[in-house]
Amino acid sequence: MRVAYAFDPSLGSYDLGPGHPMRPERVLRTASLIDAYGLVRPGALEPIDVRAAGDAELLLVHDAEYLDAVIRASRTDGPRLAERGIGPGDTPPFAGMHDAAALVAGATTGALKAVTEGRFVRAFSPAGGLHHAHRDRAAGFCVYNDPAVAIAAALEREADLRVLYLDIDAHHGDGVQEAFYEDPRVPTLSLHEDGRYLYPGTGSFRERGRGPGTGSAINVPLPPYATPACFMLAFDEVVVPAARVFSPDVIVAQCGADSHWTDPLTTLGMTLEGFDALFGRIVELSETVCGGRLVACGGGGYSWEHVVPRAWTLLAGALLGVPLGEDLPAAWREKAGIAEGPPRSLRDDPPAYVSEAVEAELLRDTRWVAETLHGLGVAHP
Ligand SMILES: [Zn+2]
Repeated sequence: MRVAYAFDPSLGSYDLGPGHPMRPERVLRTASLIDAYGLVRPGALEPIDVRAAGDAELLLVHDAEYLDAVIRASRTDGPRLAERGIGPGDTPPFAGMHDAAALVAGATTGALKAVTEGRFVRAFSPAGGLHHAHRDRAAGFCVYNDPAVAIAAALEREADLRVLYLDIDAHHGDGVQEAFYEDPRVPTLSLHEDGRYLYPGTGSFRERGRGPGTGSAINVPLPPYATPACFMLAFDEVVVPAARVFSPDVIVAQCGADSHWTDPLTTLGMTLEGFDALFGRIVELSETVCGGRLVACGGGGYSWEHVVPRAWTLLAGALLGVPLGEDLPAAWREKAGIAEGPPRSLRDDPPAYVSEAVEAELLRDTRWVAETLHGLGVAHP
């Protein structure tokens, strides 16, 4: 399977500074592990041109005053613009911020374009997935909302396109939901840690879209410590039936890896084994509902040494439909400076604290959310 690969090392310029959890090594190490597995070649991951999104594309999602603020904040001595969400805090300004964020937006836009124009069936934008950026402000490490920009640009080219946005990041996909809250062409489905416990606090099952978009936003808040089985239950009970009803032309999936149980910013219970299975199910779903057309982005994920490169390499394997050897390539481990310690293998074991009784309770809570959604009119399986 050929997969468009929207990656270029210059995407590492999206760098919020030393000590920031959203460090560029997350994406750069992922790319080097993908390389080490030999997945970048004709007939597999095929690099496509990564070009910055232009102002006209960014303005489909963001307002002109905000773009202006980001450009001002991008100078080396640029101002901090707290009213626009730009530092201090989650999203501090940095030199070249506008160009770096526009490049991420352009990567995902190019990936979706490669699929909607029929050059590829699947695409991968590992630096993408900045789902918290709002129309008028930065938020949660995100400056421009690349999935929303990509989808809005695709709708400009083809007004009757139907794009299903699926978000499995630990955090609610609030910015993308907001961008298409009234648009029935872009249903948004987000599985995330319950907003009562985690940033950004939104993503209740009661948020269902507005006006002509009523019913097209679906949120599955998961209990803290939710396991891979909880994700699978939510996927089978909510995502699959909803996707069948929406019958999209293409799926854009934000595949944040911060739901892993070791992630320093969240408290979910995902494993690499679980990611592998879930990515496989997303690919399978795209085969069932939209002829396999799928664009996968990265997203959150703050265990940058141990988890993120492995999770998104598994994602690349799922997109390509090829099994990957369990032992991490020795040369990559050496280069990454982890030759002496873990991790040695691509997958991992579940955390020891999940007993059978705990898992039963987590599944019961997840089932309650799924049944509540069914009660609100979301399709039954
Ligand atoms: Zn996240």
